[in-house]
Amino acid sequence: MTVREELIEVRKRLGGIFDRREREAVILLIFSHVKGWSRVDLIINEGKELSDFAKQEIDGIVDRLILGEPIQYITGRARFYGMDFNVGPGVLIPRPETEELVDWIVEDSKDREDLAILDIGSGSGCIAIALARTLPYSDVTAIDISRDALIQAVANASSLKANVGFITADMYEWMPSPESLDIIVSNPPYIAPDEVADMEVRVKDFEPSVALFVTSDDPIRPYKRIEEIGRRSLKPGGLVYMELNPRFADHVKAYYKAKGWNDVEVRIDSYGKKRFLKGRWSF
Ligand code: GLN
Repeated sequence: MTVREELIEVRKRLGGIFDRREREAVILLIFSHVKGWSRVDLIINEGKELSDFAKQEIDGIVDRLILGEPIQYITGRARFYGMDFNVGPGVLIPRPETEELVDWIVEDSKDREDLAILDIGSGSGCIAIALARTLPYSDVTAIDISRDALIQAVANASSLKANVGFITADMYEWMPSPESLDIIVSNPPYIAPDEVADMEVRVKDFEPSVALFVTSDDPIRPYKRIEEIGRRSLKPGGLVYMELNPRFADHVKAYYKAKGWNDVEVRIDSYGKKRFLKGRWSF
């Protein structure tokens, strides 16, 4: 079978689960994973024979995709902020929206040095590592309750040569030293249990619940805890940046304002959703 024939088959099989753009992106990832090919290599090799081994590998990946498994868990890799992260079950796959959160911090602080930064619920380590590599001489600490996630985050920091200190800790119990931080960033679990029905299989059946769902009747509980951590451990003028569930964005904003935070601002993501919040602690 030629590469072209296999492509026709794969396109047909994936057509039912992805739109055209997603399908082509996934096909490139499959060929890059199995054959080490770029987009150009794929075009150049279209008329060539595909080995039985490669065909079996590719078909096996397509089977797993059809059952809903995320491509990033199959290849073990995800791109974030121009870097390759290792990801596997047990760690949330970095999302493009979260790059916009990192962008906001970099935009505000790119000219500052030696910032002490804490990432709460770091998962794969994507935010902490992106900041450590982008902000000069920053001192980045990251906590996560999941040992599985921490193991992958430590490996990512090491392969990406980022200097981040990782701690296994529960955000509801752990507290940094008073007035020790310039920036707190967090993408906490923020999906409410009543949203499960609207979620894609790829997310709800494969990604770790601990990274997705608020385990409380209070949908803004993580943000209340981050507020508490912020008021105790930020230096005066310190900043908090968080990713939000758009449903509760106004609620979180009102809460921070009521607690005395300044310059509280909600930002819209590239999908038009109220997705991020920033606030300044100035007491
Ligand atoms: N943005 C993720 C999603 O929609 C959720 C991540 C989170 O809960 N922090 O799947």
